[in-house]
Amino acid sequence: MLSILLTGCALHVAPPPAAPISSAGITDRINWAEAREEASVLLSDYIKVDTTNPSGNELLGAQFLAGILDAEGIPYQIDEFLPGRANLIARLEGTGSEAPLCLLSHSDVVTAEPEKWDVDRQPLSGARLDGYVWGRGALDMKGMGIVELLTMAWLKRLDVPLSRDIILLVVADEEVDGLGIQRAVETWDDIGCSHVINEGGLGLIDMLFEGQTVYPVSVGEKGNVWLKMVARGEPGHGSTPRPNEAPGQLIEAITALNDRKLSPEVSDALMALLVSIGEDKGGLSGYVMQRPVLVNMLVKPKLLDNPLTRAAMINTVHVTGFTSGNHKPNVVPSEVSALLDCRIQPGVTVDEAIAAIQKIVGLDIELQVISAREGNLSTWDDPLYEAIVRQVQAEGHVAGPVISVGFTDSIFLRPLGVQAYGFVPFELTAEDMGTFHGNRERVSEENLERGVRMLLSAVVEFAGAES
Ligand SMILES: [Zn+2]
Repeated sequence: MLSILLTGCALHVAPPPAAPISSAGITDRINWAEAREEASVLLSDYIKVDTTNPSGNELLGAQFLAGILDAEGIPYQIDEFLPGRANLIARLEGTGSEAPLCLLSHSDVVTAEPEKWDVDRQPLSGARLDGYVWGRGALDMKGMGIVELLTMAWLKRLDVPLSRDIILLVVADEEVDGLGIQRAVETWDDIGCSHVINEGGLGLIDMLFEGQTVYPVSVGEKGNVWLKMVARGEPGHGSTPRPNEAPGQLIEAITALNDRKLSPEVSDALMALLVSIGEDKGGLSGYVMQRPVLVNMLVKPKLLDNPLTRAAMINTVHVTGFTSGNHKPNVVPSEVSALLDCRIQPGVTVDEAIAAIQKIVGLDIELQVISAREGNLSTWDDPLYEAIVRQVQAEGHVAGPVISVGFTDSIFLRPLGVQAYGFVPFELTAEDMGTFHGNRERVSEENLERGVRMLLSAVVEFAGAES
């Protein structure tokens, strides 16, 4: 009987997964001082290409990258889907035994205020000073774009056997309307990848504890529900307050939203991140963080005190502006409205979110949808995710999954069945993080070298084939 069971089982049990291919034999063949210099020169030149959005002009960025791909002998296509707006898609072929891996970046950058930057390191200078490359996009995200391109170049130069095609996808317009990724989604069958690495998931120095660097790898993103909340009432004279005026109703609605009962939750992802941090940290706080019961009892109140972790634990409703027309203080307008930026957890539908808000503010208040998209989540029980974590651990640091409170282009890809992870192998201080979309954006040349080394290693371990 036992033997029948065993035989029966054996027919259905898949062979154990092959051990990941070691990346050490690949990275040992690279002269890293030269690789650092190469990455720094290329990023400096890429920053000089003005792809400020609006208006983007990402065709210029695509052409710049195309020049590098030409030199490497890697085939690519430029898709100019609107005048001056272009995506670039390059492909390095593997055996095709498994679905491709896509390295995704965006070539547009946000605007900058040059007068607030130092004269010798302006937003479009690409200046190389003090061990850094300076300029708009150094972090968000031309730096990672160069790291991804060089990862592909090294795979080709070192003739690394691949089980999967590696696709480099550089999209336009991430920072404004997401036109580039939506264009790529339309032609996704040509890309056909199962996995994506995209922005997010930076290494945060001293994130929770001094001396500990944590990579919160983005495995999901909250959705957004942007609403115009309209209150209407009888117009009148400012001298005489009356019930049921539009402004008063709007204030009541906002007060009700602010007073709503919250049910904060430590998501499975956040719990897994805390466990990883606790394992690394050790001691009493490490012990607590590895135990969900204790986390809920002792850590959750602290997480709710921090705006970022608080946002990660609830469906947020955020009043971000008002409109009431142009009128004097003595006029009570018949209509006033507030803008709401609501962010919802993966699994919450847009309809559910709107119904919950409507229930709180009452039926007399109109909710107009400006735009809305549901959040989504990739599993972190996945070989690419695990390859990423191994690289972080090899550097002596901690990695764990998080659901981003904001969204990236990855939110468009998960509904296509793609496992998308936010992972940028740069290690940054809180001050460095403040330069995203801010002044004095820069990335250290050390980070560029680290980025190529860690990303190349992760890609080799995930997509490498036995030679
Ligand atoms: Zn970005």
